[in-house]
Amino acid sequence: MGHTQSEGVSLIATAALSVASGTISCVPMDVAVEKPSLVLVSHTGVPLSRSTTFRFTLDPNREQHQTLLAHAGAARLAYNHHLGRVKANLGQRAAERSYGVAERDLTPTLSWSRVSFINHMNAWKDGRASDASVSLDEAGNEVRGLPWRGEVSTDVFECASVNAARALANWSKSRKGERAGKAAGFPRFKSRHTTAPAFRLRSKSRPGQTSPVRATGPRGLRFPKLGGLRVHEHTGKLAKMLGSGRFHVYAASFRFERGRWVVAITGVAAQLHHQRRSPKNGRRAPVGVDLGVKTLAVVADGQGRVLHTWAGVKALQYAQARLKLANQSYSRTKRDSGGRNKAARRLGKMHARIAYLRGNLLHNITTELARGYTSVTIEDLNVAGMLQLRALARHVSDAAFGQFRRQLEYKATWYGTEVVVADRWFPSSKTCSGCGTINAALTLSDRVYACGACGLVIDRDVNAAVNLARYIAPPKASPLPAAA
Ligand SMILES: [Zn+2]
Repeated sequence: MGHTQSEGVSLIATAALSVASGTISCVPMDVAVEKPSLVLVSHTGVPLSRSTTFRFTLDPNREQHQTLLAHAGAARLAYNHHLGRVKANLGQRAAERSYGVAERDLTPTLSWSRVSFINHMNAWKDGRASDASVSLDEAGNEVRGLPWRGEVSTDVFECASVNAARALANWSKSRKGERAGKAAGFPRFKSRHTTAPAFRLRSKSRPGQTSPVRATGPRGLRFPKLGGLRVHEHTGKLAKMLGSGRFHVYAASFRFERGRWVVAITGVAAQLHHQRRSPKNGRRAPVGVDLGVKTLAVVADGQGRVLHTWAGVKALQYAQARLKLANQSYSRTKRDSGGRNKAARRLGKMHARIAYLRGNLLHNITTELARGYTSVTIEDLNVAGMLQLRALARHVSDAAFGQFRRQLEYKATWYGTEVVVADRWFPSSKTCSGCGTINAALTLSDRVYACGACGLVIDRDVNAAVNLARYIAPPKASPLPAAA
């Protein structure tokens, strides 16, 4: 099963996409030519195919914080610069057209390709481009280009250029109707005030070469240009995998959110050890999972046994209740007062904690499912009931449904577990798991399934999970036309 290629794909999915397309230059091209399957092989001979992300919360000092902000500022500047050039070019052509200039005499269009964006950006910041900015240094000499460019990694400019090219391509495809989803407007300029500071460094090394990320101790990481940074989490696993050639870094994405710098290190890793993947390793038979109304998720097998239930998380419910109070006290403070600043900081911390708890919860569920069973059947989440959707959203997030399936699918490939998605018309809730009778009159508010035919009384969510566990997927090769 592939990753869901939805809007706002996660870093993990992005890494997988860049491998698949092979267009991002952080995938060494000659490796791609040698290996048409695009599976990298580490210097120790380990095939690397499992897209993996390591996340760390950074603990920078004041000076490092400023350096990180400078990198993010450079990324924003480069991104906006490309958008500005393209917008001006389009405006120029539109104006010329309005004066009746013939199509072939118009100002030529700019190339929006990634390569031309990167080349232009390098020339512009280094002062080689005709439109490069000119400033005076302390001695009064003219300096072409960005005077501070040497303080920031060149990679930041390149990655921001790739991002701008991608945003423009999406907009143009959307305008021509070649892209599904909501119509995308012209990409928005990034504002210092409303955009979270973020930037990305790509790895240009190949397996076996020095990695751009190094662990410098149990709680330290080192990046080029940024130097050594303290982190909150243990770096042991990353260090071990890098050392043994079981992980190859593609990119490191930095982001300042909720008062903290977070880095996501994406790359490809070796498959898990075959013993961990083996279905014989204490794992249980096929199961069905119902994302419940009353509880978060219920796992049951075909014999009607409940194997696992996830209720909500107490800590999360408590944090949400406290957030409500904090919101109220924030709204009682005066604008620009010290009290408001303090309340805002408190709010930020609470949001961070809730986001952390939520993220953890979903990961716990999907890891347990992928690791514990040989086959997991889930509903087609795109059409799952609104009530379930609301229940899950309350506990996890509005985007949780998509995340649930995506996480489950990629983790299932790690552990060799099969994920079956039930047909969208499969009546998992309305079928009696005792006798198979379908109760079409079951409403969303019925918490208990009571069968009129066999007299079975069973929890609604458990009933659905049992039915999903027994679900048999229809054969794939269907002679029906695609439109049916
Ligand atoms: Zn029945």
